Amino acid sequence: MSTVGIIGGGLGGLAAAATLAARGHKVTLLEKNGWLGGKAAVLEEQGFRFDMGPTILTMPRVLERVFGESGRNLGDYLDLRRLDPQWRCFYDDGTVLDLRNDPKEARAAIAALNAEDGPGFDRFMEVANRLSTVSDKFFFWKSVEDLRDTMNMKENFSLSTLSDVMALRMHRTVAGQIKKDIRDPRVRQMLEHFIQYVGSSPLASPAVLCGIAQMQQGEGVWYPMGGTRAVPVALTRLGEELGVDYRTGVDVQRIVVEDGRAVAVEADGEVMRFDKVVSNMDSVRTYKELIGGSAWTDFGYQKREAACSGVVLYLGLNKAYEHIAHHNFVFSRDPEEEFDAIYDRGVPAPDPTAYIAAPMRTEAGSPTACAPEGGEALYILVHTPHLRDGHDWSKMLPEYRQVIMDKLARAAGMEDLEERIVFERTLTPQDIHDRYKVLDGAIYGLVSHGKMMGAFKPGNRSRQVGDLYLAGGSAHPGPGMPMALMSGWIAADSLHQDAIANEPAMAAE
Ligand SMILES: Cc1cc2nc3c(=O)[nH]c(=O)nc-3n(C[C@H](O)[C@H](O)[C@H](O)COP(=O)(O)OP(=O)(O)OC[C@H]3O[C@@H](n4cnc5c(N)ncnc54)[C@H](O)[C@@H]3O)c2cc1C
Repeated sequence: MSTVGIIGGGLGGLAAAATLAARGHKVTLLEKNGWLGGKAAVLEEQGFRFDMGPTILTMPRVLERVFGESGRNLGDYLDLRRLDPQWRCFYDDGTVLDLRNDPKEARAAIAALNAEDGPGFDRFMEVANRLSTVSDKFFFWKSVEDLRDTMNMKENFSLSTLSDVMALRMHRTVAGQIKKDIRDPRVRQMLEHFIQYVGSSPLASPAVLCGIAQMQQGEGVWYPMGGTRAVPVALTRLGEELGVDYRTGVDVQRIVVEDGRAVAVEADGEVMRFDKVVSNMDSVRTYKELIGGSAWTDFGYQKREAACSGVVLYLGLNKAYEHIAHHNFVFSRDPEEEFDAIYDRGVPAPDPTAYIAAPMRTEAGSPTACAPEGGEALYILVHTPHLRDGHDWSKMLPEYRQVIMDKLARAAGMEDLEERIVFERTLTPQDIHDRYKVLDGAIYGLVSHGKMMGAFKPGNRSRQVGDLYLAGGSAHPGPGMPMALMSGWIAADSLHQDAIANEPAMAAE
């Protein structure tokens, strides 16, 4: 079997490590920070515990597959609870709409706002379901870089393939698809927000990404007791059991390439040789900073832009808000104004959408409670543009914090929020950039804009460098917990298949 060096211990790196170790490879994982899990980090202080990055977990089947590689049962590692409602939505006009876990109840709540949108929601979910099936068939669980990798039209052409291609709706954006099916602006705004899971504008992203709605509505929103941080903790434990060698505090500066193949990595002057290398560092920065030369100039994604960034407020409260759910969106007054600011003009939205996580709704009274009794560990995320020239968040934060607080007072019934705060920390786009070595402070890798190519990301098996594989939110199939985990599995599977192909004797064993 191969010796494998993995650069980065985010979710993609950890999933790759566990999968490779389960298949018998000797894995060393090198992480620059003092913790494993990357953006899925935790902040614990003064009796409060906050997930610092991801808070919404969908598609647990991806985790099940990673744990299943070694015959393990996910349930022995994580206590997952299915949430209802999935989201509570607050609007400027005072409307409150719950996106319920049961599709029939979700439809009823939508139809109560606008009767025409009951059937409209059915039509939209039918399309989302089809797109999710097509994604499963052509995009997921294999290394994909462009259309050529998804389907071989010459060899596999059939009426069913043609119908799948038509289903992709390559002429349409996410917003265009929703507008076609839904009348009510509040329902449209809610459905458009699924695309924020990949940090992109619904006005510019391809309709195929409407499939995300089905992945959530059909498969649920889940909460691991103890917080989403429990996911990297569980993966790390799994890797340890399988013999992964984790080394934290190791910042890799170079991938050594000889005769077009990755043969070693270099960190602080130490060169470590491996048969194969997996990079969980941002894919663009991997090619640009760790390799360079013709691998960088031949890389087809140099011009791709970063997805959005964000500001997070971690607020410890001495008194809980009972009217909010576990996951909440407090929507902007005007989505077009908001998306234009974030994605086109590159400035923070004047009236943003704020996402609020209140995990005490699920954890109160449990041994893993994340706040003192009666209190709240509130997490507030507002998407912002990725870092541009002139963005200095040390100066921008105080003013923008006030914009967020005003929004929550106005639209989410939190007029006395300031008085309840007993603990506060923040995370800015600059912090995200520095902590996780991402592209321009991006939360979700590369932006998914472009009707034809928006869904594509750099493939997991490098076309430029032999024995190099990419895992993480800026590689295929994209960002978010399930996709980053899947990218790790695909990188590992591609590596394993290549190792077998090059060692026929081993394959016969
Ligand atoms: C604020 C915030 C909120 C989010 N909310 C959600 C959500 O609710 N739901 C959801 O599904 N997703 C969410 N996401 C996105 C999700 O967290 C990411 O898509 C996912 O965690 C990315 O995983 P990754 O494998 O790309 O690794 P990353 O988390 O990006 O980690 C990469 C790791 O590699 C290390 N590294 C980089 N370069 C080097 C180097 N040269 N040498 C050594 N180590 C290196 C970094 O230190 C880091 O630990 C959120 C992200 C953020 C920041």
